[in-house]
Amino acid sequence: MFLAISLVVLVCVSLIGVQAWLSVRARTIQLKESEMAAANLAEAVAQHAYDTIKEADTVLVGLVERIEHQDPAGANYGRIHDLLVHRVAELPQLHGLFVYGDDGRWLVNSQAVLLRGQNNSDREYFIYHREHADRGIHIGPPVRSKSTGDWIVTVSRRFNRPDGGFGGVVLATINMEYFQKYFQRFNIGQEGAIQLALEDGILLVRRPYNEKSLGRDISKLPLFSYYLPKAAAGTVTFPSAQDGVTRINSYRRLDQYPLVVSAALSRDEALAQWRGDVYLDSGGILLLVLVIGLLGVRLVRQIRWRIQAEDELVQARNGLEALNHELERLAMQDGLTGLSNRRHFDTALQNEFSRAMRSATPLALIMLDVDCFKQYNDLYGHAAGDECLRAIGKVVAASKHRPGDVAARYGGEELAVLLPGTDVAGAVVVAGKILAAIEALQLKHPGNPSGHVTLSAGVESFAPVRFESEPVDLIEAADQALYRAKSQGRNRVASNIVGPGWESTEVTSSASAS
Ligand code: GH3
Ligand code: MG
Ligand code: MG
Repeated sequence: MFLAISLVVLVCVSLIGVQAWLSVRARTIQLKESEMAAANLAEAVAQHAYDTIKEADTVLVGLVERIEHQDPAGANYGRIHDLLVHRVAELPQLHGLFVYGDDGRWLVNSQAVLLRGQNNSDREYFIYHREHADRGIHIGPPVRSKSTGDWIVTVSRRFNRPDGGFGGVVLATINMEYFQKYFQRFNIGQEGAIQLALEDGILLVRRPYNEKSLGRDISKLPLFSYYLPKAAAGTVTFPSAQDGVTRINSYRRLDQYPLVVSAALSRDEALAQWRGDVYLDSGGILLLVLVIGLLGVRLVRQIRWRIQAEDELVQARNGLEALNHELERLAMQDGLTGLSNRRHFDTALQNEFSRAMRSATPLALIMLDVDCFKQYNDLYGHAAGDECLRAIGKVVAASKHRPGDVAARYGGEELAVLLPGTDVAGAVVVAGKILAAIEALQLKHPGNPSGHVTLSAGVESFAPVRFESEPVDLIEAADQALYRAKSQGRNRVASNIVGPGWESTEVTSSASAS
């Protein structure tokens, strides 16, 4: 029973356990794959940003060399103008190319008609180059183009006068849209994000596009404030401070340019497929567990029923056995005295007679009869007579000492005691003791000459011989002895001692004398 319950529980728990373990594993694998996808995406965006800037910078480097070679003041800007127009037409990311003098005046640019007289000395990149002697590339924050109004990213370099002084600035503007179109090509789900920012945390361009976010300072966000100082590239998962969405962020700082790219995928979206699978599988397992559980309950119930039925069967059998024993006992017992009844006595006599014959041992019989019992009934009534018989029965029952001894109610107020293996002398002693014990009871009986209840006993004993003696001989002989005891005055034992070397002698003894 306990085993059956344990088995069912074990199977169910194992199924759920295995399902849980598989789900956790599948989740880990799915997250790893998403991290890889984010890393690949960041790599592609970084490469694209590098290529885009590199192409523009190549033009700038050429331009700087040419202007410095020619001396900025005397440069042939007509030919340079052609070159700029050409380059802008060639490179799709280029929005425009510009050359500014040391005071910020427009010297030449890629527009069809040069608007001279304009001045860009207030622009961030111009001020930067004027104040920094380094000849490296400078990438500025996003600005709106003065000429077209489009959002652009500025890439610029400084050129010097022959004497090493500040000569001016060459500038390439890159269409923000060029990056946006590229970002648009990737499948990043509803909540994914791609961004390109300056190293110092100024956002250049971002998908999803939001004009307000252009140029925003994101240096305080975890990516710049925490993760970037620790490693130049990495993949980390954390909840966004802006929209609360947990994203798998892969970021890297470009080696050649002061740029940082990052690609982020929503963890929820990455796990959507996995979640669907888990719901489906868990539903299946739950159904299975339910079926096994129900079958288990039925099994346990059936086992319980069987055990119960077996218990009831055993109880019924035990009850029947007890009843049989009781019936057997009742069938052999006398109802009034509790001694063996006549039927049992007859059977016992038959059996003991045969046994004594086989073993050639004596079998003794004491026949007892209450003296003057008719008067007792007459004096005290039948019920009192019964009570007296019951008391006598107890004394006679106590006379049994060996397992084979049988004390029985032979009929009416006559009792018989069968003593296997006992000779006449031994039986006379037993009978004398019974008579003495009855006398000792001192049951009042005015109808008896002695004044109290007494018994008379007839004793016989012999070793039965085949074909010579029968059980009835023993009864008759004991009966005759009893008759003699009565006729000799009652309250005494009478017997015939018969045996080899013995004369048939009549021995009587009064109970009080023995
Ligand atoms: P005695 O044996 O001394 O010669 O005289 P007795 O009066 O006992 O004579 P008998 O043995 O013939 O007695 C038989 C009487 O025993 C008849 C009946 O009243 C009484 N008796 C026999 N069986 C029962 C019994 O089961 N209950 C009662 N109360 N009396 C019984
Ligand atoms: Mg009698
Ligand atoms: Mg009698």
